[in-house]
Amino acid sequence: MNQLKEQSQWDVIIVGGGATGLGIALDSTTRGYKTLLLEQVDFAKGTSSRSTKLVHGGVRYLAQGNIDLVKEALYERGLMLKNASHLVRNQSFIIPNYKWWDAFLYTVGLKIYDFLAGKLSFGTSLRISKNETASRLKTIKQENLKGGVVYHDGQFDDSRLAVNIAQTAIEQGATVLNHFKVEKLLKNEAGIVNGVVAKDAETNTVYSLNAKVVINATGVFSDDILQMDDALAKNSIRPSQGVHLVLDKSFLPGNDAIMIPKTDDGRVLFLVPWHNRVVVGTTDTLLDSHSLEPTALDKEIEFILETANRYLIKQVTKNDVLSIFAGLRPLAAPKDKSEKTKEISRSHKIIVSKSGLITITGGKWTTYRRMAQDTLNKAIELGKLPASKCKTKNLLIHGADGSTDTSQHLYIYGSDTKGIRQLIDESPELGEKIHPRLEFIKAEVVWAIRNEMARTVEDVLARRVRVLFLDAEAAIEISPMIATMLAKELHKDNEWKQGQISNFIEIASRYVIKN
Ligand SMILES: Cc1cc2nc3c(=O)[nH]c(=O)nc-3n(C[C@H](O)[C@H](O)[C@H](O)COP(=O)(O)OP(=O)(O)OC[C@H]3O[C@@H](n4cnc5c(N)ncnc54)[C@H](O)[C@@H]3O)c2cc1C
Repeated sequence: MNQLKEQSQWDVIIVGGGATGLGIALDSTTRGYKTLLLEQVDFAKGTSSRSTKLVHGGVRYLAQGNIDLVKEALYERGLMLKNASHLVRNQSFIIPNYKWWDAFLYTVGLKIYDFLAGKLSFGTSLRISKNETASRLKTIKQENLKGGVVYHDGQFDDSRLAVNIAQTAIEQGATVLNHFKVEKLLKNEAGIVNGVVAKDAETNTVYSLNAKVVINATGVFSDDILQMDDALAKNSIRPSQGVHLVLDKSFLPGNDAIMIPKTDDGRVLFLVPWHNRVVVGTTDTLLDSHSLEPTALDKEIEFILETANRYLIKQVTKNDVLSIFAGLRPLAAPKDKSEKTKEISRSHKIIVSKSGLITITGGKWTTYRRMAQDTLNKAIELGKLPASKCKTKNLLIHGADGSTDTSQHLYIYGSDTKGIRQLIDESPELGEKIHPRLEFIKAEVVWAIRNEMARTVEDVLARRVRVLFLDAEAAIEISPMIATMLAKELHKDNEWKQGQISNFIEIASRYVIKN
């Protein structure tokens, strides 16, 4: 907070701390601009913690003939594996084929996918026999199975990467704050945006902060900021919800993920191993409004269960679901009644308002670095910032240590693992598990509070140690213990602690399926 008192004039202020905003903060500070990022809740609180956890070119977009988009994403996929090696893994996917023609089609299509990745390929795709498909995917239905096609993409921990990008930006000189909401935009006499009014949620202190450029990187919340700029601005975004279910590993026991290329509603369904469990999704449901905690609809849950059960021998029921989470994509709202809603999230879009406010929406996690590069280049092109080249192509993200050993769960901390082990050496009780069903330990919680800017029970259990996304009931059970640990570290009283527990339980109950 001292930085805010000492510095009221910034080069760049970024509103929103998801993948897009954090990528921009990192790009901006490494180009030498005085950079401030403000996130209203926590890093990756929005869509960026609710993805399918894939670092991918998008096989689906290839089928749509969107070659340039796939090529760009495959390139960024390769950079992410190099720059955040502790969080991004090479993941093999198998497409089970029940028709000979499909086997042929996907083999050819995925060869093109391999080719587009060029030097940054994750491995060659190939056709496999029925026997090999069945032996690698122990739970796949074998009736009419003809074989499979194996291909490779990346898999990652989305909100942990967000936190690590925030840390990298801070290490490179940026000021990056969570729990800090932008409430108004400031303008000069000519009507040009030259800053923001923002409130620190912990102290309720309000700050007026000036900047040469203000960047709106708020995803599905973009219209809220655009309407701060122009109260009469029409909604430009319509949210579409995507839901995922998390299951026990026994539903997909091997190392391979499953990709179902065409569900009944024309989407792709993934079953992906993640933190020793399986993430299954997703859906595409148009909504009329956005919120910070979108909630899965019954019909979305039914759809995922039904589709998965068509392919799995071991049938999934609602009782098997450990956690359920929903995320929102920003779609372009129709301009008039005759126009249909169309997706803009495939490629990103930069909008410059009359007031000079720059808004960036769409894209995907995989392309966050490229989106940041394009946004800063735009600000330079507009003459708002002195020219400076992008420096993030080979920049290592906090924690990257080049290790690919994933045999113990602390691997996701990369070079920070030794810091966590040191905590246990100093206080051996921190080596205890936080819940008997989970692999996570108390030292990770202390680490998150001391080193990763976690300020609430939800920050810890949703986005640092991913318990809420992996086992929502367990998260609810341990919330009083986590609140006690937070209160001790942050010197908070009992009233604060009780408030934390009830807030968390209210949010976490949305991640539990009610029968
Ligand atoms: C269901 C689903 C699955 C996906 N799966 C994948 C995948 O597997 N791989 C992939 O590459 N991409 C995937 N994506 C896309 C990817 O998740 C998004 O492109 C990305 O997370 C968007 O990030 P963002 O920063 O633009 O938005 P968000 O993550 O939503 O961030 C916006 C932030 O702005 C903050 N904010 C809003 N208003 C204010 C304010 N007034 N003041 C301060 N802060 C504010 C919010 O709190 C929020 O944290 C998926 C998307 C969805 C919906």
